[in-house]
Amino acid sequence: MTKDPKPRPVRGVRTRAVHGPHATPPGPAGTPIVHSATFSFASLAAMKAEQALGPRGAFYQRYGHPTLRACEQRLAALEDTETALLFSSGMAAISAVFMSLLAAGDHVVCLDQSYGGTHALLAWGAERLGWSYDLVDARRPGEWERAFRAETRLFHVESPTNPILCVVDLRQAAELAHRRGARLAVDNTVASPIGQQPLAHGADVVMYSATKSIGGHSDLLAGAVAGPAPALEGVWKVRKIFGAVPDPGVAWQIERSLKTLPLRVEAANASALEIARRLTEHPGVAAVHYPGLPGHPGHAIASRQMPMGFGPLLAFEVRGGAGAAEQTVQAFQLVRHAPSLGGVESLASLPAFTSHVQLGPEGRARAGIAEGLVRLSVGIEEAADLWADLDQALTRAAVLDV
Ligand code: PLP
Repeated sequence: MTKDPKPRPVRGVRTRAVHGPHATPPGPAGTPIVHSATFSFASLAAMKAEQALGPRGAFYQRYGHPTLRACEQRLAALEDTETALLFSSGMAAISAVFMSLLAAGDHVVCLDQSYGGTHALLAWGAERLGWSYDLVDARRPGEWERAFRAETRLFHVESPTNPILCVVDLRQAAELAHRRGARLAVDNTVASPIGQQPLAHGADVVMYSATKSIGGHSDLLAGAVAGPAPALEGVWKVRKIFGAVPDPGVAWQIERSLKTLPLRVEAANASALEIARRLTEHPGVAAVHYPGLPGHPGHAIASRQMPMGFGPLLAFEVRGGAGAAEQTVQAFQLVRHAPSLGGVESLASLPAFTSHVQLGPEGRARAGIAEGLVRLSVGIEEAADLWADLDQALTRAAVLDV
């Protein structure tokens, strides 16, 4: 792969979000959408030269595309890294990283608290591709090393985890992975590239469901991988082989969303912290999980790792258990009952009935997921309006539950 043009010196995050990494030539202020899957050439030599540019070239969309590239460069600039690649979903991005790093016989260590889709990918790969894996508890870092074997090639983590917001010390995870001859891959979806930069803490590669904060408006499905160019060579190859590239229109939507990512993330993080604090004092709430709260076991690490706030996601346990939690979610008038996160609109879900239903009550208890847990992805609405909605819903649920 050849290199992108030399980026300008590092500027502030909002400036990088709006202007991207390179000087914009006179002309359109926004990136033009190139609605073409293929590109023509004056000679075979010119075609070969373009093809050799890989993801940076304009040869054929599955290889690389100018509208995708503009978005990828802006994302890499926000991540403060060399390069990024877009995918058609977060799972396509994670699958491409796993496919690029793992061969039959290789072993993976992954968090028990990781996204369910990642567990499904690991199980499928173990059955069909000959990988093996072990799950470790994010809350017990002292036990992680015991899961490593001579053939461990990958340590895959998320931080904070979904839904109970366990915090992983990324530097410690990177040190462990590297000492044991493995790579550290971080799914940074919950924090976003604004909230946390795992590569700066030693991770080898970072992945996103761009469907969440990066897209930010709950209106597109996409994924991304970011990291140093050599680390992404193999990931690009998998993208080219399996073909999980987004449409140029979606890449353009993501690029436009990146311009406001710092503003959206800062606003959501600030509201999430305020709501988490208020929830701790609400009589209808038994427990609140949010790394921004001083009592959270990961607070000190998160304060170090997440300089822009503690993320848009929090979870709380409603007094009265599963029934009361269901009543609460049904009583919301502003917050919507939906399974995603990181959008401008606040969304609530009930992990015991949705994302973690397959664990059963015992598995959920082991993973620390209470039956009355409500997961809340805080959007950019006024915090006072969100609080009014939460308060009335919790009060109504408490009345209905007696
Ligand atoms: N990683 C995390 C942490 C997620 O929450 C999700 C989806 O909810 C994914 C990955 C998968 O992303 P997508 O739905 O875009 O494939």
